[in-house]
Amino acid sequence: MMIRMMKPILCLCLSLFVGMQASAREVELRSPDGKLCVTVDDTDGNPTYRVDYDGVAFLDKSPLGLDTNIGDFTRGLTLTGVSEPTTLDETYELKTIKNSHPRYVANVQTYTFSKEGTPVCDVVFQVSNRDVAFKYRVLRRGETLSCVVNREATGFAFPVGTTTFLCPEMGPMTGFARTAPSYETHYTPDDTMGKNGWGNGYTFPGLFRNGDRGWVLLSETGVTSAYCGSRLLGQADGLYTVGYPTEASNNGNGTVAPGISLPGETPWRTITVGTTLQPIVETTIATDVVRPLYEPSQDYRYGSGSWSWIIAGDASTNFDTQKQYVDFSAAMGYQSVLVDALWDTQIGRDKIEELARYASTKGVALYLWYNSNGYWNDAPQGPRNIMNNTIARRREMKWMQRIGIRGIKVDFFGGDKQEMMKLYEDILADANDYGILVIFHGCTLPRGWERMYPNFASAEAVRASENLNFSQEECDREATSATLLPFIRNTVASMDFGGSALNRYYNAKNEPGGRQRKTSDVFALATAVLFQSPVQHFALAPNNLTDAPSWAMDFMKEVPTLWDEVKFIDGYPGKYVVLARRHGTKWYVAGINAQAEPLKLTVSLPMWQPGQELRLYSDDKELQGSLSVKKLGKKQELKLTIPCNGGVVIAGQ
Ligand code: CA
Repeated sequence: MMIRMMKPILCLCLSLFVGMQASAREVELRSPDGKLCVTVDDTDGNPTYRVDYDGVAFLDKSPLGLDTNIGDFTRGLTLTGVSEPTTLDETYELKTIKNSHPRYVANVQTYTFSKEGTPVCDVVFQVSNRDVAFKYRVLRRGETLSCVVNREATGFAFPVGTTTFLCPEMGPMTGFARTAPSYETHYTPDDTMGKNGWGNGYTFPGLFRNGDRGWVLLSETGVTSAYCGSRLLGQADGLYTVGYPTEASNNGNGTVAPGISLPGETPWRTITVGTTLQPIVETTIATDVVRPLYEPSQDYRYGSGSWSWIIAGDASTNFDTQKQYVDFSAAMGYQSVLVDALWDTQIGRDKIEELARYASTKGVALYLWYNSNGYWNDAPQGPRNIMNNTIARRREMKWMQRIGIRGIKVDFFGGDKQEMMKLYEDILADANDYGILVIFHGCTLPRGWERMYPNFASAEAVRASENLNFSQEECDREATSATLLPFIRNTVASMDFGGSALNRYYNAKNEPGGRQRKTSDVFALATAVLFQSPVQHFALAPNNLTDAPSWAMDFMKEVPTLWDEVKFIDGYPGKYVVLARRHGTKWYVAGINAQAEPLKLTVSLPMWQPGQELRLYSDDKELQGSLSVKKLGKKQELKLTIPCNGGVVIAGQ
């Protein structure tokens, strides 16, 4: 009763406010340092925004709006309300991403759009010194409490001459056992605009180069069961728009259009802007604007592990080999062993219990692989029909909890429809009830999930190490691919790549015959630093204890998987990358080169004091690696040479 009486007064205040703002056509919101600027506009009834940095256009006038089944909120709109800007200043702790204590400072403003005199939709913009984030809020309309968003007008209009670094989305129900799309295609560097991938647009995130003026990274974050995952559709004239999933994905089941309860919000669309690649590499926007959705049921343990499947394949999922890998993980000081597909038939649950008991005597825990399907594809690997069903899933997780399973790796999901997002969320929430960490494979991009779901560990959503085993062409282009990921895929979310192989050949005997690795051992060490994931199952094998250089194995024993800080040093996506990560008081600088010519660099190392002794892992021109000790000079610089397919790592306290 009280609320009912209050309502007319609130409405009156709002309409007064609306009246005062009616003449506002163009409103600016600037970052705390004043350089990054969003301008919202409603000319001709079309809601738009543009993004400038230091007076230079990075996004031209770009469309806003949602077309819903309760009204078309893409045109005929008037900007009738603009809230007073407020400033957010938040520091949070999150040990599973690239920066354990991010600080997010942003100016926030809400823009209310009306149609035919009625407020219908808010757009909330937040602008930090490096990121723009915005989301829509569809307002409640009388007794209407639900809506379906049929289409999003949201676009990103890039200035002429912008080039792209995008990853095409695979056609639905194509590829291995009709498991696509699953974010497992290559980025094409330095491409021209005006394309639409292979006809299905591009997966998030996407990187754009605005000539010599700088860079823009587009992504989205905060996707839960309350929405679908989106993709980027390439249109004409440098415009990219937000698209919903393809109709045929998920075997045609579930709707493309997300349904929301009113008032209801979309996920955040994020735009990271920089004159250099530094903000692109260091951004934490994916987790800055989301919140934990539940409390962790326990203090989860992350860390390194091994898995036999990457080198030795399906046949290696047998009790004896897994036991050998438990011993191997123990010898490396690793936390875990990932038992991959087919363990249900090739090992069996009783023997898994025995393996888990044996592993625990060695201080090692198991991760178990599961198929997510289900009806959404034909992936035949077992165990199947457990993770897709609440009853079977919870029963299985109870068993896992009893025998001390550390985590699960769930594979072969069915696309990005809202229905599939619900499955991701349900698996995570159930697993937390039983103290289980979750890794997804054959999956969507995790969008802020490290913070939202505290037992989310990592996800594939990348053309990962398995492809190095599948084809020589992948091995030949490994370095090019690896120089793209730190700037795009891995900068918005943890990435379970499963790499850092020290086998020369991708087979259990490490003998000629299989795929041959073209990158150096130091390159393998460098990617253990360049690729961020709080849980890493490295592609190392027990034979590496005797056939790999001891300095390389010693490094792989100590390399952290949790990081406190990241610093961009140098690089160009697709050519080379050098960055630094800090774990406690230790810094690791890692670089790799994909260019034919050796890369010569002088790197500034202000994280260490003059006179500091540093370990330098480097390659000669034949890609023979070695470890040396260097004393840092007064200028705090080192001259480095990285050959093609080679790497460098500098490590010190
Ligand atoms: Ca995969």
